[in-house]
Amino acid sequence: MGRLVGIDLGTTNSCLSFIEGHDPVVVPNSEGGRTTPSIVAYSEGEVLVGSVAKRQALTNPKDTVVAVKRLIGGRFDSDAVQSAIQHLSYRVREHDNGDAWVFAGGQERSPSSISAETLRALKKYAEAFLGEEVDSAVITVPAYFNDSQRQATKDAGRIAGLDVQRIINEPTAAALAYGLNAGAAKRRIAVYDLGGGTFDISILELNDGVFQVLSTNGDTFLGGEDFDRVLIDMLANHFFEKHSIDLRQDSMALQRLKESAEKAKHELSSSDSTEVQLPFIASTAEGPQHLQMTISRSAFEALSEGLVRRTMEPCEQALKDSGLSAADLDDVLLIGGMTRMPLVQRNVEAFFKREANRSINPDEAVALGAAVQAGILSGQIRDVVLLDVTPLTLAVETQGGVATPMIERNASIPCKHSMVFSTTEDNQPMVSVHVTQGERPMSDDNRTLARFELVGIPPAPRGVPQIDVRFEIDVNGIVSVSARDLGTGKEQSVRITSSSGLTEDEIQAAVEEALTHEKKDQERRDAADIFAKAKGLLYSVEKAITEYGHALEPEMLSMMEERASKMRDAIKDENATSVSALLDDLESGSHEVANAMYSSLETSNLGESEDDFEDLDI
Ligand code: AMP
Repeated sequence: MGRLVGIDLGTTNSCLSFIEGHDPVVVPNSEGGRTTPSIVAYSEGEVLVGSVAKRQALTNPKDTVVAVKRLIGGRFDSDAVQSAIQHLSYRVREHDNGDAWVFAGGQERSPSSISAETLRALKKYAEAFLGEEVDSAVITVPAYFNDSQRQATKDAGRIAGLDVQRIINEPTAAALAYGLNAGAAKRRIAVYDLGGGTFDISILELNDGVFQVLSTNGDTFLGGEDFDRVLIDMLANHFFEKHSIDLRQDSMALQRLKESAEKAKHELSSSDSTEVQLPFIASTAEGPQHLQMTISRSAFEALSEGLVRRTMEPCEQALKDSGLSAADLDDVLLIGGMTRMPLVQRNVEAFFKREANRSINPDEAVALGAAVQAGILSGQIRDVVLLDVTPLTLAVETQGGVATPMIERNASIPCKHSMVFSTTEDNQPMVSVHVTQGERPMSDDNRTLARFELVGIPPAPRGVPQIDVRFEIDVNGIVSVSARDLGTGKEQSVRITSSSGLTEDEIQAAVEEALTHEKKDQERRDAADIFAKAKGLLYSVEKAITEYGHALEPEMLSMMEERASKMRDAIKDENATSVSALLDDLESGSHEVANAMYSSLETSNLGESEDDFEDLDI
């Protein structure tokens, strides 16, 4: 059995950690970084992940997928997806089931299979670091993720070859990391988590190892990317005023704007102003044009104030739902890279009327907490109990399209609820059940999770058949439904028309594709290794021929020249099969040459040594 790890699969960056002894430890990636950019690029048949993908984004914007977490489990026609698409340099299309899929590397790909690439890369780093197989994980998601988004994240894990043993909420994970060594005293804390693409707020009570989430709220489409956009628009508008060119229409220019905007945003967290310089960003009849602009922190703050304010309403709701007031809290934790922005810190502190706790690393806390949960599951960490809640109300559509709540938001999970359905007409053979998730009063305004048709109901007067439909939310926040005919006591045949998500076939296809490209990548790496070895050997052989060829027997010299020449041609033709076939001959030939040379050298050296010995009179 392999190792169980904790993974923070972030919009911008991802991080993996595991439990060593009693404490969580972050695994560095192959470049030594503690977090890995959640960026996947498809380049000439190759899949690049992390910093390498980020580095080539400028020259390959259409096939470089950033922030795919904003699309995971999302419907193509939803407002949130439509607004995200406006600012993405890659193409997003509507899949057959209505979900948003990405078109990159010449084919349509599900956001789950793209996220799986990041997960797979993290898995590999961990396996190299730990020296053992990593086959299962606890993966974190924003607390405010709905069922489809959670399911799609779980699918990503499966595609990456990970058994996802638990999905936990990001702020809850951060609280676990914070509270692991916080002692037994009762504490109530708020976790404010503003990351690259999502915002979450959770109110928790920590009491002698019991971590109980009292309430949670958030916005799955609000994060650092939106702040970057404010700066992108600022820069693009500045350029447009001068040159009447909209840089956002040119994917390469847009990518450069994005990089500069994020850099400027980071700098403005510690400086009062920053300078953006983008030479040769466009060209006009007058020649190449450059973008240069000084941005002050106050100008950036003025334009992003609305975004920060948008986080306050969920804070208010979460506090209200928890039954507490700001004064009842003992601590406010800041999580997520965006909480480094001074405007965010000021607003949070003003809202909660206290100084925020910045003692935990906002980039790593979530992954560390995921590892703590992994430790709880594996039995390495005892005496810690986590009681989480469901973020969104589960409802059923009743007459007039009304969403009738079945399980209210902030109910402790796991939980169950059942409801009896019947017919509205005589001899009605089936009933339709429409399950939704969300806080809006009308079903159509909420997210459809499933539509059921309870078929095969025996002929009976209306209102007589009784079908008990059971709704269940598991510890991962994932919903399932079953139905039973109370009259016959038999399980009813339930036809579930999943409204979205990946089918089992699609998951299997994605797993196979991933394995194929892993195999291809390995073959490519093996070929690169062989070419590197062959080039190195050829260089040594050619050097030896030039320098010592005169000392070799003529047959040996011509044999070596012939082998070297064949290898030169094979390398030039990039023929991996021939290079590999010629490698052994060239290597054994070069050994023969070396043996011949050294044995002649040994004879002469021996003579010299004996002379030396005589001189020294030993
Ligand atoms: P996370 O998802 O927690 O990794 O958060 C990443 C987001 O935090 C990205 O939008 C980053 O640009 C942003 N971020 C990271 N460092 C800073 C900083 N010093 N100032 C402002 N934003 C930052």
